Amino acid sequence: MANRAKKSQMERVSVPPLSSVAICGGTHGNELTGLYIVREMQKKKIEKVGSVSITTIVTNPRASEAGRRYIEMDLNRCFTDVLLSSPITESTPYELRRAQELNAQLGPKGSTDAVDLLIDLHNTTANMGLCLIFYTLDWITLHIYKYIQNKMSSVPVRVIQLEVPISDAYALDSVGKRGFAIEVGPQPNGVLRADIFNMVKEAVDLTLEWLQEFNSGHTFEGGTVEAYTLVKSVDYPRDSAGKITAAIHQDLQDNDFKLLRSGDPIFLTFAGETLKYEGEDLYPYFVNECAYYEKKIAFHLAMKKTYSFPSICAKKDGETA
Ligand SMILES: [Zn+2]
Repeated sequence: MANRAKKSQMERVSVPPLSSVAICGGTHGNELTGLYIVREMQKKKIEKVGSVSITTIVTNPRASEAGRRYIEMDLNRCFTDVLLSSPITESTPYELRRAQELNAQLGPKGSTDAVDLLIDLHNTTANMGLCLIFYTLDWITLHIYKYIQNKMSSVPVRVIQLEVPISDAYALDSVGKRGFAIEVGPQPNGVLRADIFNMVKEAVDLTLEWLQEFNSGHTFEGGTVEAYTLVKSVDYPRDSAGKITAAIHQDLQDNDFKLLRSGDPIFLTFAGETLKYEGEDLYPYFVNECAYYEKKIAFHLAMKKTYSFPSICAKKDGETA
């Protein structure tokens, strides 16, 4: 016992308290849950919870007003270092201008001025439950994930890691010192579902609760976490004109995160032929996501990895390590 206690103490990591959080919605203007959660928080003037200051932003107001994913280009693909530093001209798309404004307000990305934690709220038409999506593995993010997963029973809670260097990270959440997207579905674009609204609200409230406990000095125990890591994307079969020739097969539809094995059906052609998966066993997600038709993605495939993470607590004033 003594040894184990000593070991766990050695594995404890202390991190400065987190004092600023941004909660963003409407990055995709037709994903309504985040948009209405943010508007509600703005109505209630929620600007501080305990020691944490909160910024709430409707990030793409024009697309939100129009009820569209975007006006000129996908805002959530604009946050790479290259795009954020590109000069603004008369022909710069609205979303790229907006990305640079958001970077000035919440970042700059990669700087010490950036907000401590940036949470961006999204919906998917895929049956993915509630997912936290992030770029780099970070102890704080994994602890928040475990906290949400342990407390939420109404929905499966999973975590997806995109292994992209931070300079190439294209999503808004990469602007914060830490950040993640909360992606929840299935919900059609332009539609609000109460069950999904409540799930996202609960996840946001639990995140703020975790931050309070963390900042007040609570130690969160380490553990392990299973994360889905993107391996590749699969496009629809297409004809020579680029038109799709098949739909997602009914056996794959709504079966996000169910292991896909070689020989399993993935598409049903409009001529009635079943097309089967060939390759290593992987986990599908974003299956039949509405917004990905234009991106030529029928579904993503991930592998599952297990990560250990240490106990964590907030660094006290004057503490060095
Ligand atoms: Zn989205």
